Amino acid sequence: MKIIAIGRNYAAHVKELNNPIPQSPVIFLKPDTAVLKDNKPFYIPEFSSDIHYELEVVLKICKEGKHISEKFAPNYYEEMGLGIDFTARDIQTLHKEKGLPWELAKAFDNSAVISTFVPKSQFKDVYNLEFELKINNENRQTGNTKDMLFPFERIISFVSQYITLKKGDLIFTGTPEGVGKVNPGDKLEAWLSGQQLLNFDIK
Ligand code: MG
Repeated sequence: MKIIAIGRNYAAHVKELNNPIPQSPVIFLKPDTAVLKDNKPFYIPEFSSDIHYELEVVLKICKEGKHISEKFAPNYYEEMGLGIDFTARDIQTLHKEKGLPWELAKAFDNSAVISTFVPKSQFKDVYNLEFELKINNENRQTGNTKDMLFPFERIISFVSQYITLKKGDLIFTGTPEGVGKVNPGDKLEAWLSGQQLLNFDIK
């Protein structure tokens, strides 16, 4: 199983990190050892002093595919959930300045928090899903899938031109604006279309 993540997929977030609007999806990978699930606590690693949350809608791939056309892309995911793409922003900033890859900032253990997954059939329109993150009961991030620069079909089609998608792979589809630092003692809760899917602590 692999995790494919999309960077810079919400214009307002692209601006908050002073990045250019991409012409095609920006992707990076996280290994399976990055997964943190069942609302287990996240322990801040000692190598970073600026771990940021990024709330994202996550797709679970349901069958193998390569060179998938956008037309057929919806057949490749049946379930959706929420995830936190934890990012060591201090390391990422340093690596971006030097033109180096992002793995140390993005792929570390437990950096891919995932919720339980729900059938996409329960949503009337996957392109009008509000999702929200509260920290210590305060709203920190609100997004809507209608604001994605690259829709799910485009992401699936684009990625599968390069990398075969397999059943069980996860796609983190990008974060809206409002990213920020987590601290020990924080409680993170997140909702997808009004349904609470994440509720865990930072230690
Ligand atoms: Mg992200």
